[in-house]
Amino acid sequence: MTAVLPSRPTVRPDRPVGGRLIDQFEYGLDAPICLTWELTYACNLACVHCLSSSGRRDPRELSTAEAERVIDELQRMQVFYVNVGGGEPTVRPDFWHLLDYAIDHQVGVKFSTNGIKLDKKRAAQLAATDYVDVQLSLDGATAEVNDRVRGTGSFATATRALENLAEAGMKDFKVSVVVTRENVGQLDQFKALTDSFGAQLRITRFRPSGRGADVWDELHPTQAQQRELYNWLLANGDNVLTGDSFFHLSAYGEALPGLNLCGAGRVVCLIDPVGDVYACPFAIHENFLAGNVRDEGGFQRVWQTSDLFQELRSPQTGGACTKCAHFDACRGGCMAAKFFTGLPLDGPDPECVQGYGETALAARDADRTAPKSHIDHSHSGPVRGQPTLLGFPSIPAKLCDESPLAGMQ
Ligand code: SF4
Ligand code: SF4
Repeated sequence: MTAVLPSRPTVRPDRPVGGRLIDQFEYGLDAPICLTWELTYACNLACVHCLSSSGRRDPRELSTAEAERVIDELQRMQVFYVNVGGGEPTVRPDFWHLLDYAIDHQVGVKFSTNGIKLDKKRAAQLAATDYVDVQLSLDGATAEVNDRVRGTGSFATATRALENLAEAGMKDFKVSVVVTRENVGQLDQFKALTDSFGAQLRITRFRPSGRGADVWDELHPTQAQQRELYNWLLANGDNVLTGDSFFHLSAYGEALPGLNLCGAGRVVCLIDPVGDVYACPFAIHENFLAGNVRDEGGFQRVWQTSDLFQELRSPQTGGACTKCAHFDACRGGCMAAKFFTGLPLDGPDPECVQGYGETALAARDADRTAPKSHIDHSHSGPVRGQPTLLGFPSIPAKLCDESPLAGMQ
């Protein structure tokens, strides 16, 4: 297939030349520097906060040949690495082939996994491969905390995979943690656990995306916990990866390391398992859908010319946040967090550390329901090791289990 080159200019004429990187990023780049590619919606787990509501495979998933074509395109665009996720990417039968294919085409791969397929043999294979990085997902530093969110046995699966990687001599692998109300008190334990495997800790912000929207109220850190997290990052941040996760905390005072800007559509985007391209992995919703890699011109055309991405590449000029004294540090926070809690995109983040998010949530139009993603591949029935968090509504076996008088006239 010959890629049809975009007819519109690919470099914004108003993008500043030289100066601070953040100012250039605001206007977008010719290729994303943080591209996430979810290879499949299939997953052996059913984590309560899954941002992509994964579980069942989508029959329209990109074929092996189509996935190879995407990799060819990324190579042409000089995308040097891609974050591969899902669902659980390793359950795709061609996962190991696509990994090799990407590396052979100078596209490094960083993949996230729950560890289900990382036995000793795979760990040794990964340790012997250059340009590959692995992230094991854990949302509790103990089985008790982790398994309530990710499902019974998931802590044991992940730590076994970590042991296998460490034993195989794998370097620089990561433990990836979504910070929640339940695990924020375990940050030191996470660090110790990660260090014990010779790995590096990566923490990310919990967003109300996918199934995360259903448990947002119960799981997102309290204001006091956000302060605790900020202090912990100031003390430990140099050795911990965070991506663009916590820049809204910079409004407490000191800027944190990492990208202090929402990179959605500017330097960040998502390709989902069926080839749809969204502005950010946390924004799987029609409003943030820019195109599909199967369309004429492929991914390059979507990235460089879609109307949505052009729009996102403009600096914010209006809205409540631009009047805030902390705007330069916090930039209004996370677009996805605002959108999925039903707040305006130019107003404060729901977790605004100055407290304006709470005010905005309270003032939110009572009739207004928070937008839901149109994508949901959650398992329709029970899954082995189902998470126990928030106890799925307990259904009494018989009416009289609840009250001896229930149902009686
Ligand atoms: S929408 Fe939120 S998660 Fe996505 S790039 Fe922006 S700040 Fe990051
Ligand atoms: S009002 Fe907006 S810019 Fe100010 S701290 Fe809150 S989220 Fe950040």
